[in-house]
Order: sequence, then C-alpha cells, then structure tokens
Amino acid sequence: MTGWRTTPCPWRHALALGGAFLVMVGCQEPGPAVPVPTAADAVHVFTGARVVVGDGTVLDNGTFIVRGEMIVAAGQTGDIDVPPEAGRSTVDLTGQTVMPALVNTHAHLGWERYTGWGSEHFTRDNLVDHLHRHAYYGVGTIISTGSDQETLALEVQQAQRVGDVGGARYLVSPGVGTPGGGPNPRFTDDDGWWGLHAVASVDEARAVVRAEANRGIEILKIWVDARDERRGAQVKLRPDIYAAVLDEAQVRDIRVIAHATTLEDHKRLIEAGARRFIHMPYDREVDDEYLALVDARNVFIVPTLGMVTRREPYRRPVFEDPFFQQQVPDAVISRLRAEAAGRVSEDPEPSAAAAERARVIADNFIQLADHIILGTDAGAVGDFFGYADHLELELFVRLGMTPSQAIVAATTRAARAFGLSDVGNIAAGQTADFIVLDANPLDDIRNTREIAQVFLRGEQVDRDALRAQWTQ
Ligand SMILES: [Zn+2]
Repeated sequence: MTGWRTTPCPWRHALALGGAFLVMVGCQEPGPAVPVPTAADAVHVFTGARVVVGDGTVLDNGTFIVRGEMIVAAGQTGDIDVPPEAGRSTVDLTGQTVMPALVNTHAHLGWERYTGWGSEHFTRDNLVDHLHRHAYYGVGTIISTGSDQETLALEVQQAQRVGDVGGARYLVSPGVGTPGGGPNPRFTDDDGWWGLHAVASVDEARAVVRAEANRGIEILKIWVDARDERRGAQVKLRPDIYAAVLDEAQVRDIRVIAHATTLEDHKRLIEAGARRFIHMPYDREVDDEYLALVDARNVFIVPTLGMVTRREPYRRPVFEDPFFQQQVPDAVISRLRAEAAGRVSEDPEPSAAAAERARVIADNFIQLADHIILGTDAGAVGDFFGYADHLELELFVRLGMTPSQAIVAATTRAARAFGLSDVGNIAAGQTADFIVLDANPLDDIRNTREIAQVFLRGEQVDRDALRAQWTQ
C-alpha cells in the first residue's frame, strides 16, 4: 500500500488519514507542541457535508468522527460531541456529499489484464491491482464469485486482513456445481480453469462444504444452470444436492449465493434455504408465490443487469467515457475501440423476443426493488472493475428506483445480505469506508461519479497515484 504514496511529507506515513490531514494543515513539519496522531488512534472530524447514510436517511449537515479505521460517531452537526482540539484534525466538507463506499457482491477478479484476459493473469499482483481499481471508484468491499484460484485468493485475503494489502475488502467465494457445469465458457474453455468444485451426490456436496469451511471460506457460490450444452452441462445441480450444500453451509456459518436465472429454480432454491441470488428470474414474470417467498425468507437478489441487457447506459462505448479512461492507457482505449468497430456490423436488430425479455427483466427488477443488491459481474464479460458499479447504479435508477433506493441497494443492503455488519453505513461502529462527492447523487445518480476522495478503513485512497500508474 505504501508503494502508492509519493508524498513530499516525510511524516505523512504516520498518519492514518494523511490526505485529509494535509487538507487542514498543509505540508508543514508539526511543531513540538502539536502531538502527531498515530495511525491507530488518529482522530479526524469530518463536518459540514450532506451525509447519505446508506440506510435511506440523509443528514443535511452531518458530522462524523473517525478514529483509526472506524467511525466512532455520526449525526447532525451540533448533535455530535467533538473531542478537544489537541490530537485531532477537522476536515470541512461544506458543499460536498458523503456516502458509504459501495459493496459489490458479484465480480470476477484476477483474469482481466486490460491487454488480455485469461487464467495466466491470475497473479497476486493482478489481484491486488483489481482491489485498488475498485477502491479508486469508491467500492469498499468486493466479493469475487467462483473463479478465483483458491490458495492464492486466500493468501491475499489473509494478507489484507493483517494490513499488508490495501484496496477494496476482498471476499473470496469459491464455486460448487455439477460436473461439466460452472461459469460461462469463457472461463471453462481456458486451459487453466480451476474454479469448479464438482459434486454429483449429496455426500460429495457435504464433504466439499466441510472442506471449504476448514479452509476458512465464508462464502460459497452454487451454479444451478444448464446453460452450456457444449460442456455437457445439461444436467442441473439436483435439488437434493443443493439442499445438502445449503444445509451444510448453514451449520458452518457459510453464506451461499446461488447462480440461477429461472423463476422455477429460484422458488425451489428458496424453499431449500437459499437467500442470496446472482441473477433474477429472467425467463418469465415473477408471480405472487415468488414474491411471497422472497418476502418471507428475506431474500437478496443481484440482478447483474449489465450481463443481460445492453440498454443504456451499457449501450454507450465505455472506452469513450472519460470516467473509464482514468484507469487505462491510450493503447487499451484504442484496442477497445477497434474491437467495438469490428462488432458493430454483427449486432442484429433486437428481435421481438429480445424486446419481450428486456420488458420482463425491467418489470421483475422493480417488483423486487426492496430485495435488490449491487453486483456487476465485472471481470467476466467485458465490464470493468469499479467503473461498472456506477453503470449498474445508473441502470437501477433508469429502471425505476429512486437514487436513494439505488444507494441503499449498493451499500447497506448489500453488506447485510452477507452478514457484513461493519460496512455499508456512515454510522458509529462502522468501518470508515466512504466516498466524498462534489455533487449530490440524490439529485442525479450519475453524480456518484463526481468523486473527490475515497477513504477505506480510515485511510485516503491515493487516487492520483493510481490514475498516474494506470494511464502511463
Ligand atoms: Zn459472474
């Protein structure tokens, strides 16, 4: 993490919130009368901002206090007891908006290299880079689902927990499926593909979950899909097998997220105990039975809209967007532009069936609005880390959510869906993961792109250094 820093202030490394402190005091040597806070107990008071708490409420003039990695107080300015002057700094955010860092529950880290894509790119350095890419765009937590090389992934996850790796909080989620099943063929056709724990019986399923629990895995993905006939995966994961996975996982406090795309599979999975889904029912309109199940069992759904719809904003070429261009050099932009030019002629007019499917998806999305959580599938199908999160938020609103609802889905609700109780809010007891924006996303959800600063675990992300590194 310290490798990103290029500061002329020699003492800056001692400050957990170095960037914010500099805003206040400039780059002067602290005099002997001023105690320099240490990383562990530095106290910083952020005041004057509109604070979008993440739970649907807003503090019009908010103050929150960060000590070390944690938010220790938050409320309306004037209601918060500010500690004495000595040993703390104050950051005036008047005119700006603060919101929690995003929680992305569906992506595939490690395979994208921007100059190429494949298992050969799954290295520690690339994985860490992808955590920084999410951090740059204001994503504080990222769940990588079913495509990570597990030993390496767990090493990086552990290194981050002891403070050796920065970026978005990394949560690895290995995958379980039927033999020949698993993710899309872009992964499984790769000679290095490793991601599937194949199970063909109840006993195998329980054994895999036990083994994963013993490795320290906290989240598992299951694929219930027969989408790829080329691989002989016409056989879906059987209900008795996924029921065994869900049962064994519950006993071991492992959170399961199920890949399923049909209404019938969703219903049967919920009845078997599934509470988290990657993908909505795309095949038909949700019915009363399903909506009742989703409510009764408190189900969370990642709609992963970017994968299934090419409507706005996904129709726009990302490589022409300055917000995307911040994370790649000109050579990558040129390559993407050339690839897109080659694709245009192949792009058929949308058929009546495709239009009907888009209508069903939009309709289901809004009926499920109170259960929706953020996930992008970035790293799998051409959408890019961190950037894709803002597209997905925009699409949530285009499909009928208010900006406030979209932010809740992308912060508090996404965190709670996975039992993450310490991220997703601007509130006392939460990790200090937040975004400072120059414009109000409640006016226009696209204002989540107006990022002034990102803080993760109380520390400012050095966005300038990251951008310089990526665009050179
Ligand atoms: Zn995916």
